[in-house]
Amino acid sequence: MVSKQSITQDPGIGKPIVVGFFVILLLLVALIAIGLNFMAQTNHRLHWLVEHQSRGEQTNPSVRLQQKQTLTVLRDADVSYAQARNWMLLLGICTVSLGLIITRLVSRRVGQQERQLTEQANFDALTNLPNRLMLLERLTHKIARVKAENTSFVVILLDLDRFKEVNDILGHESGDMLLMEVGRRLIETVRHNDLVARLGGDEYAVVLDGLSRQEVSPITEKLICALAQPFHIDQQSIDISASFGITIFPDHGQTPSALLREADIAMYVAKRSGGGFMIYAPEQEKISRDNLSLKSELREAIQHDQLSLYFQPKINHQQHRIIGVEALVRWMHPQRGFMPPDAFIPLAEQTGLIGVLTRWVLKAAISQLTDLHAQGHCISMAVNLSASNLHDPELIDIIISLVREAGIPPKYLVLEITESAVMTSPSDGIRNLHRLDKAGISLAIDDFGTGYSSLAYLKQLPVDELKIDKSFVMNMCNDDNDAVIVRSTIDLAHNLGLKVTAEGVENRDTWEILTMLGCDTSQGYFMCKPQPVDRLEQWLAASPWAAGLKAETYPDAIFWDRVKSA
Ligand code: C2E
Ligand code: CA
Ligand code: CA
Repeated sequence: MVSKQSITQDPGIGKPIVVGFFVILLLLVALIAIGLNFMAQTNHRLHWLVEHQSRGEQTNPSVRLQQKQTLTVLRDADVSYAQARNWMLLLGICTVSLGLIITRLVSRRVGQQERQLTEQANFDALTNLPNRLMLLERLTHKIARVKAENTSFVVILLDLDRFKEVNDILGHESGDMLLMEVGRRLIETVRHNDLVARLGGDEYAVVLDGLSRQEVSPITEKLICALAQPFHIDQQSIDISASFGITIFPDHGQTPSALLREADIAMYVAKRSGGGFMIYAPEQEKISRDNLSLKSELREAIQHDQLSLYFQPKINHQQHRIIGVEALVRWMHPQRGFMPPDAFIPLAEQTGLIGVLTRWVLKAAISQLTDLHAQGHCISMAVNLSASNLHDPELIDIIISLVREAGIPPKYLVLEITESAVMTSPSDGIRNLHRLDKAGISLAIDDFGTGYSSLAYLKQLPVDELKIDKSFVMNMCNDDNDAVIVRSTIDLAHNLGLKVTAEGVENRDTWEILTMLGCDTSQGYFMCKPQPVDRLEQWLAASPWAAGLKAETYPDAIFWDRVKSA
């Protein structure tokens, strides 16, 4: 593992400052030495002069007096010289000591600052893991070493799935805590000498030494398992998964950036195919290019009205009659042709485009609802919301004002939110649900049965309807377990005072059983597939499900005959 301490220090600006201090110190010492030398020389000259003068016996009393005085001055000068020399030496010692202390302090401080700068440049501030810069440097060294040793290494890139959603829903603080915990788990899973880096956002890289291709899958599975355990953050349990892209040196890229690019492509492909991991293959390049362009094309499509809505009727079991439609978005791509929502809604959710997309869908659906009511079809319009839409207060305002402007009773707009989105939604999402409910808009829980609902929680939500997921309904005639789930969901919903809609009714038997179980409404290919507005209008004009024929007086057999022939 690369720790902060193991990085080599760049001499940086610290060395010149320390050298500068040494030069000043040397100059001071030199000045003192010159001073001492000058004083010694002056003293020496004085002695020489006195000796010169006092050569020979002097009989003249005034000269003898002068000599005596000179000797006294010389003795005084000796004493002064000795004192001055001692002071100079003391000063010299003090200067050297002080200089050494200052130099030491300065070099320590400069060293600290340099270490900090190096850390900032090489390590991620949130997780303390090496960052992209450091990873590239390490990869460069590793490539050189591995080439010389003729061995191999593996680069695994991983990106958390739905992290944006977690961040939007739980807030940035929880998002940060999750990122730190992910880093910690990755470090704990790999060996001591392997490298874990954070490349920014929710993207990490793991570099594993000396692995063969066969060893790649088990270690990646281990990483997947490490992240599969729920994360406990802020008293919430969060399930998160990641997509992994793998590249192997020397089989794939030959430079650090090529390796990262290939791992990124493999990761993209893994994400697109629903998560897990992928080892890089050259064929993946095209898929990844396609996906990148899809992202920008989707933005354009929303702006230029290339999206359209299909509508699927919802039929009431008691009257055998349409009570509403669900709006389902489609994309007519100029090159790729007709695209179902599963091919682009996840992309919109990952890239944050879902906000604009939902605004477009709502506008189009409410406008269609107004037209239907104007034509005398007093039915409801259901629109699907994504999890992050629930945390977009501006969108909530837009929905409320769009309904007001349409002048239609707000209960005719139904917003469908998946069970998992509602269950993982913290307080602001629930507050927004209450705001919509207060405005009179109907709310339905979609795909019910696929999440883990707590009944107590469900009871507190301002919801009007549960929609049983089609995966249970489609098989309920052949699978007893599914039939039990459908039956108990209907009972549960009714006990909570909610209406129930079953999705995925594909045959008459299913319809009949659901009628028997007391299901309120159903949706499915048996009654009507989702269709564009012109075909919906034809269907409304002609279908027995639209005509309200199942009145008390209308014979059952005639109704089913008309359904068969429709
Ligand atoms: P969903 O909300 O569960 O929509 C029902 C899906 O089941 C639709 O698929 C519909 O065509 C399909 N379906 C209906 N009856 C049957 C049946 O009898 N048998 C079978 N096999 N399938 C049936 P679709 O239109 O492909 O939509 C798929 C999902 O895409 C939707 O699932 C919804 O989650 C999402 N979606 C569609 N439109 C939007 C949208 O405007 N916004 C958002 N956020 N999601 C959307
Ligand atoms: Ca739905
Ligand atoms: Ca559904």
